[in-house]
Amino acid sequence: MSFRNFKMVSYVVFGRGSFNQLDEILTPHRKGDAPMVFLVDHFFEGKALLNRIPLRGKDKIIYVDVTHEPKTKQVDAIAAELKAEFGEVSGIIGIGGGSAMDLAKAVSLMMTNPGSSADYQGWDLVKEAGVYKVGIPTLSGTGAEVSRTTVLTGPVRKLGMNSDFTPFTQIILDPELTQNAPANQRFYTGMDCYIHCIESLEGTYLNEFSRSYGEKALDLCRKVFVEKEKWDTESDEQLMMASYAGGMSIAYSQVGVAHAVSYGLSFLLGTKHGIGNCIVMNHLEEYYPAGVKEFKYMVEKNNIEIPTGICADLTEEQFDSMINVSLGMKPLWENALGKDWEKIMTREKLRALYGKL
Ligand code: NAD
Ligand code: ZN
Repeated sequence: MSFRNFKMVSYVVFGRGSFNQLDEILTPHRKGDAPMVFLVDHFFEGKALLNRIPLRGKDKIIYVDVTHEPKTKQVDAIAAELKAEFGEVSGIIGIGGGSAMDLAKAVSLMMTNPGSSADYQGWDLVKEAGVYKVGIPTLSGTGAEVSRTTVLTGPVRKLGMNSDFTPFTQIILDPELTQNAPANQRFYTGMDCYIHCIESLEGTYLNEFSRSYGEKALDLCRKVFVEKEKWDTESDEQLMMASYAGGMSIAYSQVGVAHAVSYGLSFLLGTKHGIGNCIVMNHLEEYYPAGVKEFKYMVEKNNIEIPTGICADLTEEQFDSMINVSLGMKPLWENALGKDWEKIMTREKLRALYGKL
């Protein structure tokens, strides 16, 4: 048996208003006049947060369109543009939800690794450390701030660049940045964390490391979505730490059925991660009875709409392609259902499940 030896984020700042320390944090990492490049979620274009970005010299802000989940060609285009304009950059700072953070991680890696980011979709294919990279979440839940992957849709697959070079060098966890997110979005992304916890805690890969973080994260999700009557400043802090702990939990375990099925939806229909997981979780009583019951309670309590019938008009060919993508996520199924998962999750069973979504 070989134990996972995983790379973590090197530096972490947590606290309301900690974003104000960004200038001080970046200064020692500036290399001559090579700029810091801020990849900012397009939501913040024209918003007050921009005036707080500490621009010096040739520093540049690039608004990233996160209408769709990050693509390898989007990463390649940004990296090519930066190389053409500056040659070298001092660092890449991602400000936004999971999408903007994933773009920042990937662009950092593509500043030093040759070829296309699509060449590195997989496990441990990245050969060179990227440039200095900072993650600053404005939504809580994905765990992208702590993970060793950046999920990209490429020409042939939707798969992360999983490597020891992928985690951020620095993260800044400032709960103030999530406070104005719309309730629906906050819920979908928050449920990503809740679902990470259920899948990790109910999985066969579970050990005490993941359990400790997973239980804490679950506890924090419950405080926010079950116990409170309404969202408050403490909720932003709790969900931000839930996301962090949930990410740490899956660092040593794995996600499960909801993610494996939701990947198929996202590949075929472009369904976004958070909402896709919710659409699937809504129908997983058989696998996670207690978690699904509580999930439904949270949906109702927080007045959230979960889409249904999204697979109603699909052809058999389309169902097949979702089933192929989903069954390709072997570690997820093995974590969820054990070594004999292929006998349990047959194509017919999965076809029936997709049919219900
Ligand atoms: P997101 O980053 O896709 O953003 C969702 C929407 O919220 C966007 O329209 C964005 O502009 C907007 N937004 C962001 N911050 C906001 C704020 N403070 N106020 C108002 N609107 C705001 O959403 P997400 O759920 O955080 O991330 C999903 C992405 O993360 C997917 O691409 C998924 O693949 C990825 N992901 C990565 C990992 C990882 O480990 N790397 C894990 C899970 C998910
Ligand atoms: Zn997830």
